[in-house]
Amino acid sequence: MSLIVVGSVAYDGVETPHGKVDRMLGGAATYIGLSAAFFTEVKIVAVVGDDFAEEDRGLLASRKIDLTGLERVPGGKTFFWAGKYSPDMNDRETLRTDLNVFADFNPKLPETYRGAPYLFLGNIQPELQRNVRAQMSNVRLTGGDTMNYWINDFRPQLLETLKQWDFLLINDSEARLLSGEYNLLRAAARIMELGPHTLVIKRGEYGAILFRRDGHFMVPGYLLEDVFDPTGAGDSFAGGFIGYLAGRGVSPHDGDIDFAELRRAVIYGSVMGSFCCEKFGVDRFRTLTHAEIEARYQEFKACTAF
Ligand code: AMP
Repeated sequence: MSLIVVGSVAYDGVETPHGKVDRMLGGAATYIGLSAAFFTEVKIVAVVGDDFAEEDRGLLASRKIDLTGLERVPGGKTFFWAGKYSPDMNDRETLRTDLNVFADFNPKLPETYRGAPYLFLGNIQPELQRNVRAQMSNVRLTGGDTMNYWINDFRPQLLETLKQWDFLLINDSEARLLSGEYNLLRAAARIMELGPHTLVIKRGEYGAILFRRDGHFMVPGYLLEDVFDPTGAGDSFAGGFIGYLAGRGVSPHDGDIDFAELRRAVIYGSVMGSFCCEKFGVDRFRTLTHAEIEARYQEFKACTAF
């Protein structure tokens, strides 16, 4: 079923211990979309400048991603982000954030997007996230992510937005910041009082935990021999998670949602996040196949069964 993905489409400059690329396709909506498109029909809402290359648009289009909502601003420049990773790649420093056309991003959904049942709101201003949801008439599952900046400086708006979400995907430090609790079990309980009935806390190379009010499910990180570039891993995780749910038509009914499907969604999220790290930028998605995804999913099963 159709999934709307809202967020940045960008150019990134990235330096890791394995190399340096000055400018390549990036952005949260790009990673989420490329990842989710393996599971379901994706429609992107984002903005780029007229420097956005035809080749990059072509990659998204080749995955049957609907780009009707990809606004192109004449004379504008595409959002640019640059970052450098620590030697162990667990930390990164942002070197540059040029918002460019993204500074005035005020997503407006094309008519053909408004009836879609699935919505993933990438990391943008919480009020804009709320406005997008308000434009949809038939949404069955809504969720997204956020970051430290919005949690610290836009807390009231974020709390208002979260009230309408089914799920939230954040990393452990953000969960602690949002809840004011260091202990993750307590943090999760607090966050689920804010609106979302489902919470995924990502823990980088250590995996992720799926929380529901009546229990939780823990997934280890997939062990990769070489991590070339972790950029976009969190977004690719999100794409696998929501893409799987949308592809299967999973949504809450009678106040409940299938926990077994949510568990599988978290595994697919982990699978997609791990593939993303194997090459620079979005490169791994250029060659990735359904068979490879399925093989890694089965490997996860074998590694965690006892
Ligand atoms: P991740 O590694 O999953 O956190 O995602 C990295 C992607 O997020 C990069 O491709 C960046 O272009 C994009 N990004 C970085 N900073 C921001 C921001 N402030 N708003 C939106 N997207 C961003």
